[in-house]
Amino acid sequence: MLIFRQLFDTVSSTYTYLLGEPRSGAALLIDPVFEHARRDAALLRELGLTLVATLETHVHADHVTGAWLLQQRCGSRILGSAAGGAQGLDRALAHGDRIDFGSRHLVARATPGHTDGCLSYVLDDESLAFTGDALLIRGCGRTDFQQGSPARLWASVHEQLLSLPAQTLLYPGHDYRGLTVTSVVEERRYNPRFGGDSNLADFAGYMSHLGLPHPKLMERAVPANLRVGRPEGDVAPPEEPGWGRLTWTFAGLWEIDAEALEELGEAVQIVDVRGADEFEGPLGHIAGARLIPLDDWPARMDEIDRARPVVTVCRSGARSAQAATLLGKAGYAQVANLAGGMLRWRAAGHPVQGGAA
Ligand code: FE
Repeated sequence: MLIFRQLFDTVSSTYTYLLGEPRSGAALLIDPVFEHARRDAALLRELGLTLVATLETHVHADHVTGAWLLQQRCGSRILGSAAGGAQGLDRALAHGDRIDFGSRHLVARATPGHTDGCLSYVLDDESLAFTGDALLIRGCGRTDFQQGSPARLWASVHEQLLSLPAQTLLYPGHDYRGLTVTSVVEERRYNPRFGGDSNLADFAGYMSHLGLPHPKLMERAVPANLRVGRPEGDVAPPEEPGWGRLTWTFAGLWEIDAEALEELGEAVQIVDVRGADEFEGPLGHIAGARLIPLDDWPARMDEIDRARPVVTVCRSGARSAQAATLLGKAGYAQVANLAGGMLRWRAAGHPVQGGAA
């Protein structure tokens, strides 16, 4: 028996996989995301599972791993590739290593090419494999930074992944189009980069003309992942606040998403830190929000009631994160930043006062 869940991070389109063996209760998480440590820990608890280890498929450039945070919360061991160079692994994996959870196990296969340290994980009976960014559904990870190499990726995918049994299900590290799973036979046939009659020269040509921008979070994510997601100065998350469903971010502050904020209603003070022109501009504002532009801080900070929770808001969530940090430093105990700001609030269809239709 196997318990299997596929989890998703909407910000980076990253998949996290939970594998559990019900008799022993032992579980693994592959590629956990820092901001979802609370979600993942809750799911493990509800399924009656104990997290024995987290596994990384590689040193990610687009999100920070939850490995360290889950180790703090659940006591799990941190496993990752020896070739990836991350500091803080409890076990450094190489090709052929076996990772046990109860009576089941995964086998690591080295699949470099997207990065030097990429590992894929194959379930004991070869029914499932987790390919990270080596092989995506009808695609693959890029090869233009982090030691990427089209020739190495070509060899990895053909020798280690497409050589698995035809019916093996393949679970990727990301998908940007809403697909969740594929199989060896499908990718052999339909992957435009590796399938059909394509050869290494076709593939290398394809990969050198992707023309993608660098990931937004790369400068922050790669160094953080080389420390297995441990924040600088070892800052462990503070006690879970009781006033709302908050998420502790790698940046070291509490965030709230639009849905959780709407649930709170009048119980919370919403402070919008944009300029007055933006507050009345096309994005509109949240009903009941009080405008205190960041330019007027810290002078007008004491207009905010210390006794009630505060949620800070701006256009994208960046300036309001700064405001939330200032409030924290000033001794406000119940502060959270609205994740994604008015842009995400509106995109999710929450009510707005003023603004363009
Ligand atoms: Fe990647």
